[in-house]
Amino acid sequence: MIPLNGKILLSTLPKIGKDKVIRLSNNQNMPLPLRKSEVFILSGREVPSGFWGYITFNDQSQEYDAPDVPLLCLNSEMSHLTDGDIIRVSNDSKRVRVLYRKQSQHNFILLTEQCNHYCLMCSQPPKTQDDSYLVENTKDVLRLASRGSDEIGFTGGEPTLLGDDFINLVRLAESYLPETALHVLSNGRAFGDLEYARKLAEVRHHDLMIGIPIYSDAPEIHNYVVQSDNALDETVRGLINLSRFSIPIEIRIVLHNVTKDRLLNLAQFVSRYLPFVSQVAFMGLEMVGFARANKDLLWVEPDSYSSQLTEAVEFLSVRNISTSVYNLQLCLMPKALWPFMKKAISDWKNVYEPECNECDVRDKCGGFFSSHIYKKPINIRPVKL
Ligand code: SF4
Repeated sequence: MIPLNGKILLSTLPKIGKDKVIRLSNNQNMPLPLRKSEVFILSGREVPSGFWGYITFNDQSQEYDAPDVPLLCLNSEMSHLTDGDIIRVSNDSKRVRVLYRKQSQHNFILLTEQCNHYCLMCSQPPKTQDDSYLVENTKDVLRLASRGSDEIGFTGGEPTLLGDDFINLVRLAESYLPETALHVLSNGRAFGDLEYARKLAEVRHHDLMIGIPIYSDAPEIHNYVVQSDNALDETVRGLINLSRFSIPIEIRIVLHNVTKDRLLNLAQFVSRYLPFVSQVAFMGLEMVGFARANKDLLWVEPDSYSSQLTEAVEFLSVRNISTSVYNLQLCLMPKALWPFMKKAISDWKNVYEPECNECDVRDKCGGFFSSHIYKKPINIRPVKL
């Protein structure tokens, strides 16, 4: 597991009264004019001149003469930070948060913690306080992120609660990262307003996908899972409006005890009423946030719903709807499902169990979220081919 939050052991950053977003560099050959906005990662004794600031780990700061430019000393857990990564330094200079890792394929940027759903298994429980600083952070990340990134994501909370600010962030993503795909997680309800869907379409992002959850074809089940009346109706209206503007859509279905019994019905609903979607993703439960609080309500052994899941996946697949399964372990699922199962747990929270070391398919298996310590499937067994 790669920590994304860390302590600052020492800082000579000037007090600026607000968080600061900075990009790190280890490029000693960077042209002088470009150094002024970068923070150099010190290693060895060499201290190249001209950078805005410097960063080191543990107590290595003692080894350097006190510089007359900002110096940050982080705890050693953060020594995974490298060239091109972007961090946020808290306004009291006590903590850092990693916002973007250049080498990672899993950069999701949090746009807001506010939400109009209160999902039973929400991994990022909503908050109501003003968090508009996240919009400013996002602008900084988009400006500083590597042009070579394959994909970045926007997540929340519910990003569309930002209204026009959300549309502007999509526009900025297109402008700063013209070769990078953008994946947005949204409940889709805001797109029930045709004009709002039109505004998004008018950005003409070159590679945009909106990931929208539907948890059941039965409104009372979907609305119960998201804890909001009329949610399914409004989400479906949003999906239809997005399709009018040919904006690609991914349907996301989280698998747990409340959703597992109607997977085939849901697959039939998607194929009949939403055949325009680009892909469907079935996702194993991540045991964080509200999912942990609601563990007794939600947890079900994944192998107990494997036949319903296989039926639903095969139903969609034969109808040419691209379908994938995420966050589940190969040894718990029938071989018929394996071609659809993807390795996709974000690298910083992806772990394996000791028995996985004996497994012949470990390289192909997605493994576990680090949070699986709160609920580990009982039937994990190494696969022998
Ligand atoms: S034993 Fe581990 S690596 Fe092998 S299939 Fe199961 S979870 Fe995956």
